[in-house]
Amino acid sequence: MHVTPARENPVDVKSLPIPARHLLPLGRYKALNMPVSMTTSRGCPFKCIFCVGRKMVGSRVRYRAPVSVVDEMEYLKGLDFPQVNIADDLFTASKNHCFGVCDEIEARGLDLKWSSFARVDLVSYELLKKMKGAGCVAVSFGVETANPRILKTIRKGITIEQVEAAVSACADAGVLPHLSFILGLPGETPETIEETRTFGEKLKAMGASYGFHLLAPFPGTEIRERAQELGIRILTNDWREYHANRAIVETDGVDSATMDGVAKQWKDEFDEYLGEVKMKMENGTATPQEAWQLVSLENTVINCDLMMKSAIEKNGAWAVSQRRCDQDELLATLAKRVYDYTGYPAARVKDSLKWAMDAGALEYKISGETVKWSWRDHL
Ligand code: SF4
Repeated sequence: MHVTPARENPVDVKSLPIPARHLLPLGRYKALNMPVSMTTSRGCPFKCIFCVGRKMVGSRVRYRAPVSVVDEMEYLKGLDFPQVNIADDLFTASKNHCFGVCDEIEARGLDLKWSSFARVDLVSYELLKKMKGAGCVAVSFGVETANPRILKTIRKGITIEQVEAAVSACADAGVLPHLSFILGLPGETPETIEETRTFGEKLKAMGASYGFHLLAPFPGTEIRERAQELGIRILTNDWREYHANRAIVETDGVDSATMDGVAKQWKDEFDEYLGEVKMKMENGTATPQEAWQLVSLENTVINCDLMMKSAIEKNGAWAVSQRRCDQDELLATLAKRVYDYTGYPAARVKDSLKWAMDAGALEYKISGETVKWSWRDHL
């Protein structure tokens, strides 16, 4: 391992051009049907001991100019992505910056849905209302745990009361709050996990959604450096396992199997909910919002499976007769050739492929007597 020294001067974000996204295979990103991420600032002055983000971007917050931020948003809207996610560590940390971006969006009349990350102690009804007026539909908060003692240990610097106040302010402003928790923090026990789950349900009843990650103690984080003192056992140094979906630590009070079980239970409950929506769709009682959520999620899962397994690349070319090149038939044939790379029937895969094609993410070319399908690289 080679460790370079810390940069003496952090990057001046005002001088950076917008990212060269045209060099990426944008059609593939689009086929995943997810919000496209961008940043409007870098840096975080807080000291949460599990966080690797602040180690990478430094503690001094540097903001881009609102004009440049909204130029990038306009560019992304031009590419027809469904939503932009502002992935800054602390978009709402500076009221001036946040209002400046919202004012610029309003001044241009830009009609774009977006979401952002925030801390519960750095939002207010006034700020959220302003964001909502500028197109913000959802805000994600890292709450990490409902246990005040663990919150103190990890130096999160927030209180349970602030979490509830932020969720209420979001509900009042018409913005969806999403809360994220981490299992496996120092001091975690079966009781603190239950405390967090109960708190998540309480927030859900107030209009929030919530989910769990499992602690991934990345190199450079204080939680890793002080693991022994904090009572955490790190079970692997295989970085491929550091994806936060499986337990790779244990505490004195709870083992990895228990934490995996909690995460699985939460996933099973979500799958059960999706199953109920599916039944409602079949008998015509699903709300448009429920139906949209399920169809969008399935499109993402199907297209992701097809990409990860190179299904289109392996099966997307075959001989055709020039006289029989009906697009719908070609899509149906493609779906039959690739559906078993997914857990879905051919008819559902065909719908997902058609959606990708309509979104400009998938295309075919006929040359001679061969049709060849591919994800579009450029939009
Ligand atoms: S978790 Fe969020 S608030 Fe805490 S240090 Fe990291 S970026 Fe900052």
